[in-house]
Amino acid sequence: MATSGNRSILPAALVLWTALGPAPITTAAEAQRAATIDETAAELRDRALASPLAWELLESLTTEVGHRFAGSAGDRAAVAWAVAKMEELGLENVRAEPVTVPQWVRGEARGRTLSPYPQEMKLIALGGSVGTPETGIEAEILEVAGLEELVEVPDAEVAGKIVFFNRRMERRQDGRGYGQTVPIRGRGPSAAAAKGAVAVLIRSVGTGTHRFPHTGALRYAEDTPRIPAAALAVPDADVLEAQLRRGQPVRFHLYLGSRYLANTQSANVIGEVVGRDKPGEIVLLGGHLDSWDVGTGALDDGAGCAISLAAAKLIAALDRPPRRTIRVVLFANEEFGLSGAEAYAQAHQAELTTHQLAMESDFGAGNVWRFAASVEPAARTAAQSIATLLEPLEIAFDAGPAWGGADLRYLHTSRVPVADLTQDGTYYFDYHHTEDDTLDKVAPDALAQNVAAYATVAFYAAETETSFFPAPARTQRER
Ligand SMILES: [Zn+2]
Repeated sequence: MATSGNRSILPAALVLWTALGPAPITTAAEAQRAATIDETAAELRDRALASPLAWELLESLTTEVGHRFAGSAGDRAAVAWAVAKMEELGLENVRAEPVTVPQWVRGEARGRTLSPYPQEMKLIALGGSVGTPETGIEAEILEVAGLEELVEVPDAEVAGKIVFFNRRMERRQDGRGYGQTVPIRGRGPSAAAAKGAVAVLIRSVGTGTHRFPHTGALRYAEDTPRIPAAALAVPDADVLEAQLRRGQPVRFHLYLGSRYLANTQSANVIGEVVGRDKPGEIVLLGGHLDSWDVGTGALDDGAGCAISLAAAKLIAALDRPPRRTIRVVLFANEEFGLSGAEAYAQAHQAELTTHQLAMESDFGAGNVWRFAASVEPAARTAAQSIATLLEPLEIAFDAGPAWGGADLRYLHTSRVPVADLTQDGTYYFDYHHTEDDTLDKVAPDALAQNVAAYATVAFYAAETETSFFPAPARTQRER
């Protein structure tokens, strides 16, 4: 565990734990209730661990729908799939809430070095890139490591060139290498355009060594020309780098057929297990239904959808529903602008203060190894109790703040409590946003462990008498 490297601090930590431990239970009735909630949660956890349901759902989504990029035919099929699945699972209040999404079409992508060593290159347009002219763009490559290094290059040296951002992503369990590398994808195209570049290539933001390049969204700045941008597969970036090391100018030809169409409609698909006591209070479980237009979106984020649906179904199968409502939200268009997250926050503004907790699974299907929760300070004891229930799943409690998934950003800013069940992301970025994001990369046992963790946390949060709202004000993430 990343948080327990120093053994010498353990005795002090244990003393502190005891001092802050569960509040004394004062009556026999309270003791009985506490025992019941813990027992039910433990049974639910163990049942989830043995359930193949999430795997079956993910197999169904990746087989019957496949990829489902915002605004595409796959997106519409995924919305229909999700509505039908929720009804089949017996969730209540199933609906598709409308979300307007942008529509971008990838088109064909081709690239090759022209001189001094002509070679075809495997590349993919970054999401949102404009296309090139029909004849493509031909120019000399200018290599920089990153955004800071580009700033140092005089504009005259950048003008008329194709800027190649050549930064390697580090493999880490918590995926922090992504945060360190991804700014070249988001901001690189406009940063290069501002200095007169005609196009951008990046080394794929990924850790794999296969020849599938990694896509993902770019963000054009308002005040700079929009230039085409693509990611090279990692081995192709290696070849381009080696050609550049030979010291002669490298000329490159890039063609992208990408274009924008008019905005269109998608939906957040929602289903519930209605609470028996406080139906207006919500424990939100989510994933995003959209994927990139490559692979079948098994890891990103079919897994998160399957985990959320399976956890809700297992809770629905208990003898009685929990006190509060479990609400599954499968968000529209996370990948290309968080449209569903924004639409949900707007449509549900009036009930955000009755959101007890929100969680999103959007980091693949690796085992969960860490639990953190940002809840009202008086609810920390409940968070400790949840952590104890998660111990048999080999999940460690992190007393630090939780951040929630990307789709929970607006909720978290409104002080909705969030919890993180952090997955092992060691191999996630080998496949992320590539043609290789397919079902075979998902381990059924790990998927079931995720369901067990989500079901446990969601059930406990929905059943406890403790209110988690409001979370402490969100602070800047340190990473
Ligand atoms: Zn995702």
